[in-house]
Amino acid sequence: MWRGVVRPYLRRMTALDVRNLHKRYGEHVAVDDVSFTVEEGEIFGVIGPNGAGKTTTVESIAGLRTPDSGSISVLGFDPVRDRAEVRELLGVQLQESGFPDAIKVAEALELHGSFYRDPADWRELMELLDLGDKRDTQYKALSGGQKQRLSIALALVGNPRVAILDELTTGLDPQARRDTWSLIERVRDTGVTILLVTHFMDEAERLSDRIAVIDGGRVAAVDTPAGLIARSSAVQQVRFRVSRPLDKRVLTELPDVTGVEISDGRWLVTGRGQLLSSVAGALARAQVVAEDLRVDRRNLDDAFVAFTGRAPEYRNLSERRGER
Ligand code: ATP
Repeated sequence: MWRGVVRPYLRRMTALDVRNLHKRYGEHVAVDDVSFTVEEGEIFGVIGPNGAGKTTTVESIAGLRTPDSGSISVLGFDPVRDRAEVRELLGVQLQESGFPDAIKVAEALELHGSFYRDPADWRELMELLDLGDKRDTQYKALSGGQKQRLSIALALVGNPRVAILDELTTGLDPQARRDTWSLIERVRDTGVTILLVTHFMDEAERLSDRIAVIDGGRVAAVDTPAGLIARSSAVQQVRFRVSRPLDKRVLTELPDVTGVEISDGRWLVTGRGQLLSSVAGALARAQVVAEDLRVDRRNLDDAFVAFTGRAPEYRNLSERRGER
């Protein structure tokens, strides 16, 4: 089991501070004005439509692209000016790997570890990523999931304090995705801050402490997953049956309620704000029990639509069929 370095911080530092980032390619503005901060120990998700500027943003943080303006701090260091320091502090797993086909798993890990001052134990990482029995397998002979796990191991082999993971589970089957999520949570538990770019809403919702929604090169919203969902779902609905007759006005007079419909003994209450607790309180005061109570649960897909005006995109249909 990879032990990493457990870092019990008394006071959290800011791991990443991105301010007013701007980057254009020719006439095309890829990142218009992106700002956010990530606290140490967080898993911070970045979501947004294709072409929103996510990869440009995270590659700028990694020092792989140079922004036209704005500032980036990785634990106090600038990725362009302080390249050597940032290399030691930051591990990056990117969409494209670019490994030589013939390199073997163990060789790739050992080689990459040798580039760092204080690397993790690559053998332990290999076990953690479940690649032990593939140690002598060439890169070209690995399955998609194994390649993905190797790229995560390589992002961690320098023992980074911040890891950037871009499209972490794209191409993995549902079980491999869940295994990868557990792994990422274990990595976070060792104190590593994680910046996670994903187009899977369930992944972002499950893993992220906070999420930035990027759209058109700008940050449309930053919040916890629950906060984004709550902010995006203005309209809520509660359904139930009543244990005994109830005067409709008990509910229609509530400030959060905008509509009450009754059909075949089923009540449908529409409203906003703290709708569920308002309704539950009113029913309790009227000594009515709500039976078969259901609340329409909004999820991050709804928040994505609300903040970007588009549905989340999936890389291919099989991912969608397998996962949604
Ligand atoms: P995706 O989800 O599809 O990976 P993204 O949000 O990561 O998209 P970026 O890859 O940052 O978006 O791209 C933002 C915009 O900049 C896109 O319109 C893209 O076509 C353009 N772009 C990105 N890299 C370059 C480049 N090297 N040269 C020219 N245009 C680029």
